[in-house]
Amino acid sequence: MAILEIIEAPHPVLAAKARPVRDDEFGDALAAHMQDMAETMYAAPGVGLAAPQVGDSRRVIVADPGNDPDEADDERQLYLMVNPVIIERSREMIEGEEQCLSVPEMTVRVRRHRRIVVRWRDPYGAPREEAFEDWAATVLQHELDHLDGTTLYDRASRLKRSRYVKRRKKLVREPLHAR
Ligand SMILES: [Zn+2]
Repeated sequence: MAILEIIEAPHPVLAAKARPVRDDEFGDALAAHMQDMAETMYAAPGVGLAAPQVGDSRRVIVADPGNDPDEADDERQLYLMVNPVIIERSREMIEGEEQCLSVPEMTVRVRRHRRIVVRWRDPYGAPREEAFEDWAATVLQHELDHLDGTTLYDRASRLKRSRYVKRRKKLVREPLHAR
């Protein structure tokens, strides 16, 4: 198990459309990689992480949306999703504030479907399907966005984006000068 480096926006791997995992890629190596992603997510701490955020442009996400920040509920339910697809979306929408491990210190209000049904495969190729609502549905729609190259950075206003870039440049420069 290892903690992976989380890539921050703007970065080409975060903007790219991730490719599907091929049949010959399922198995122990993929499972181990996804456990590393999960460990990285919990350490951050976060409730979801998509493979492009660790530099892997494949359709893979890990999520523990049971970790609702508004509820004192520490029960872990880890989802390891390979090639996830949303097969149903409610017409009803909800809106909430989101943050992203790849876009530090930025909060963006995003509209999401209140309920979705996701179909995916586990790291060994077994098919899975489940419905998610409210916070969990939001977390998964956020992670699925990453697989299509969309981050909160893209959803933010131009003003928020330019403030963010200025702040990041400063943060990157300062540690170098300090050394
Ligand atoms: Zn994110």
